[in-house]
Amino acid sequence: MIQRYPTNKIYVGNVPIGGDADIPVQSMTFSKTHDVASTVEQIRRLHFAGCDIVRVAVPDYEDAHALKSIKEQIKLPLVADIHFNYRLALIAAQVVDCIRINPGNIGEKSRVKEVVKACSERNIPIRIGVNSGSLEKEFDTKYGPTSKGMVESALYNIKYLEDLGFTNLKVSLKASDVERTVEAYRMLRPLTSHPFHLGVTEAGTLFHSTVKSSIALGTLLLEGIGDTMRVSITGELEEEINVARAILKDSGVAKGGVNIISCPTCGRIEADLVKAVAQVEERTKHIKAPLNISVMGCVVNAIGEAKHADVAIAYGKGQGLVMRSGEIVAKLKEEELVERFLEEVEKAAKEMQNNG
Ligand code: SF4
Repeated sequence: MIQRYPTNKIYVGNVPIGGDADIPVQSMTFSKTHDVASTVEQIRRLHFAGCDIVRVAVPDYEDAHALKSIKEQIKLPLVADIHFNYRLALIAAQVVDCIRINPGNIGEKSRVKEVVKACSERNIPIRIGVNSGSLEKEFDTKYGPTSKGMVESALYNIKYLEDLGFTNLKVSLKASDVERTVEAYRMLRPLTSHPFHLGVTEAGTLFHSTVKSSIALGTLLLEGIGDTMRVSITGELEEEINVARAILKDSGVAKGGVNIISCPTCGRIEADLVKAVAQVEERTKHIKAPLNISVMGCVVNAIGEAKHADVAIAYGKGQGLVMRSGEIVAKLKEEELVERFLEEVEKAAKEMQNNG
């Protein structure tokens, strides 16, 4: 049983973060934010894929002024990502549900004070987003882009805002590799009660990001660290959400959704298992019930796995079995098995939902 570190609960729009809340998944659009139509379209795609909170970059005034129109057309809570120019944060704070800044790169304290005042007036949180590649000069000079440098920067920025009486905060400490990321979050966790936004930054393609994010975020989640997360992928928007959801599920943090058990295949295989599992994965994505389903290439381990699975397929020579909780419900030709199996999966999901 994972024991989560106790943290403050904050709200980004209607989505709670920290405390006893579920861990929401975040992502970011890659359109020019001032291209409202494209940005709204990307946000809708993310929403459909299961994203809980979306962030957009706000590098200039045209982007800041587009936020109102974007916000009016979407349902997801909206976060504005701002660097250097506090006036952009002041415009964004009138509209969005959270601001991501580094107080240290906003400049004079009087400017940060104004941003804090604007966020306080609308009761919206600020994410202190520390990145190893853009530490304030003093920390970079003293520590370099290390986990220690990231933690010192975060502590400085947290204090900066707390001294202004502002505690509606979450914090991220992102590096582009697993070791510094994990180390930084571990070091900071006992030093503050603000919720953490987890992520590995610039993590690369789907393949590399999935590996890095699974190791880093999986490790932290298993240690009870992390209150919201983003998986950064150079790729399709939906992939970020799929990988994040899988990390939450496979680390045991999130209970819902299908867990597919499939064999690695070997010389005993009796069917095109790769094709069958791909089909099953695609067509069970929408299921929220916590089902274990198994798809096995021959009878050697299939019957044993099927006993522990809610629904299972065991392939044999040109035919196979569909099983429910270890009991055979159908014996069919190979080409009929997947459809019958999926029917049984849908039935099991419905029954599970009806039984609460
Ligand atoms: S279930 Fe059968 S095909 Fe799959 S790995 Fe085991 S022995 Fe090989």
